[in-house]
Formats: sequence, C-alpha cells, structure tokens
Amino acid sequence: MVEARTPAIVLRTRTHGESDKIVTFMTRDWGKVTGIAKGAKRSHRRFVNALEPFAHVHVRFRPSQANELAFIFGCDLIQSFQAPSRDLQRFALASYTAELVDAMVIGGESGQEIYSLLFESLSVLEEDSLWTPLFLPAFEFLLLSHVGYAPNCTACHYCGVSLLERGGAATFSVSAGGLLCSHCRERGGATLVLSAETVQFLCRPQFGGLKALLATPVSPRACAEMRALAARLLNQHLPRPLKSLAFLSQAGIPLVSSIDGLQEE
Ligand SMILES: [Zn+2]
Repeated sequence: MVEARTPAIVLRTRTHGESDKIVTFMTRDWGKVTGIAKGAKRSHRRFVNALEPFAHVHVRFRPSQANELAFIFGCDLIQSFQAPSRDLQRFALASYTAELVDAMVIGGESGQEIYSLLFESLSVLEEDSLWTPLFLPAFEFLLLSHVGYAPNCTACHYCGVSLLERGGAATFSVSAGGLLCSHCRERGGATLVLSAETVQFLCRPQFGGLKALLATPVSPRACAEMRALAARLLNQHLPRPLKSLAFLSQAGIPLVSSIDGLQEE
C-alpha cells in the first residue's frame, strides 16, 4: 500500500456519514487532493485539530485513481492560522482564497506554486503590517498565472507592440483575451480601460511572490482596475459564482461590480 506524505493546507471539509470526513487539501507535492478520513470525528489521535479549513498540516494518504477519493491515513498539524478567526474581514479573505484555489485547480497541476501562494496569503493575513488593498488583485493574478490563464500583459494582443514602450494606457478585450494598444482598441469589442500605472504593474515579473508584489506602492485606482480585470478573467473560467463573495461583501470589501469610476466601452 503506497503511502504519500506531503505538507498541505486544508481547503474545505464536510461530514460524511456518522463519523467520517471528506477533506480537500492543496498539497505541496500532489496538487489538489480530496480524500476520506475514516473515523475523523472520533479519532483525536490521527486527526487532532488538523481537519479544519486553513489548517497547515502534514497529510499521509493513499493516492487515488482519477475521480476517486484518496484514503487519508492521518494528519499532523504544523500550524493553525489564527487570522481567519480574528475578524470578519480576514475570515472573508481567507475563505475567498481557499475557495478560489479549490475552484481553479483541477488536480495535480502547479501544486507547489499554488500551495506556496496559499501559504503566503494566509501568512500575510496573519501579519497586520503586510496587509494592503493590493492583496486581492495580487493574489488573483498570481493564481491566474500559476494555472496558465494570465493574459500576456507586456505586448498588444493583436499587433505585438510593447505596451511598456508605448508607455500609456491600454485596454483589456474580453473577446481577444488580452491587452490592446491604443491603435488596436477599436478591434477588441467590449473592453476595460486600464491606466498606464496598471499596465506598468502588470508588466512586472510576477514570480517574486505575493509579499514582493505587496511591497509595491499602487494607487487605489490601479487596485480597482486590477480587480476588475481579474474578475473578468476569472469569470471566464469559474464554473459557478463563489459562495465566499457574500462574506467579502459583508466584511465591507467592495465587490468589483460596485467599484466606481472604471471605464468600460
Ligand atoms: Zn496593437
């Protein structure tokens, strides 16, 4: 019987029958794994405090064939993030990051990068000094990039001109799925206007990690534009609306649809 071991973060759990739990993890080495923890509601020795959302754990499991549940032998708690229980805003943001990862990751792809992004996100929420309004769009763009859905932000989708060299604003075309220079914007159908600041930010190499991105000074307007752009990209790939959007709204974090001042054509 093969036993896999890997660090992981619990994305969600649900009760199964009288004493079992079905748990979804974002693991470092095996991508997203969903498995059954037999007797989890009774066994404090094998699963003590380790099967709660946002728990950082070492999980031992038998990998499954496609579409079947893995069998979870046991789970050891490495760290319990306190931020989600501290206030509604952090709970909403942690719930959103976990649900978005769950929705955007199908199986074993890009496991390590996405595991690291989720770990870094929960760590940022834990530290007051690191929190900025850029958190949401930065998280969303890094996730989009890791699952392969980030658009090319350095060059015009149609003519290939460097948007940085052109130095001005650009538009994002939903139908083209990319950024357009000022000459090509007419060809793009419905577009979202992005300021030069936003284009410049998106042209940066995004692989320095979340904390490196959050250290960049960004105006509220650029933050709003990036969230609107991320929302359009995510909507193209999400199978259903996320439940945690309601938590964000309750926590006073504006949804994209209510952000004023964005220019759409
Ligand atoms: Zn162009």
